Amino acid sequence: MSVPVRGACRCERSRFRLTQEPIAFYLCHCTQCQAESGSAFGQSMYVRTDAIDEIEGPIAEHVIEDEDGRSAVLGYCKRCLTVLWAGRVEVEAVRGLNAGCLEGTAGLTPYGNMWTQSARPWVAFAPGPRFEASPDDPLAMIHAWQGRPRDPS
Ligand SMILES: [Zn+2]
Ligand SMILES: [Zn+2]
Repeated sequence: MSVPVRGACRCERSRFRLTQEPIAFYLCHCTQCQAESGSAFGQSMYVRTDAIDEIEGPIAEHVIEDEDGRSAVLGYCKRCLTVLWAGRVEVEAVRGLNAGCLEGTAGLTPYGNMWTQSARPWVAFAPGPRFEASPDDPLAMIHAWQGRPRDPS
């Protein structure tokens, strides 16, 4: 993936630019990601918050309290309700970007899978490690992404 890359919501009124490579990109097969994405898994792309710039359009942020008592912030388009990014309120430096909003990243393959115990039986896993649930090491997916094999080019 060559940065910068542009992203937009479904209606394309809300836009942003990503200026740095992700710090992790994996698939999460948990039931929460399935519900939120409306798909079989969530594409978890973590980026530095300061790598998101040129933010424009009718974007608002909404804070929800999860069952574990921690608060999540969702950045969304007020017109079409696409969620552009999400993150922990207390971890301001990192955001999970909606990878489906990015343009021209078809060549970027996720590396790693978590919550395979709730994966749909027909799903094809991404390359890289597979964790039945959340890995004990919270940085496991970041390290996996950094150590992934690169195309020789
Ligand atoms: Zn929109
Ligand atoms: Zn998940």
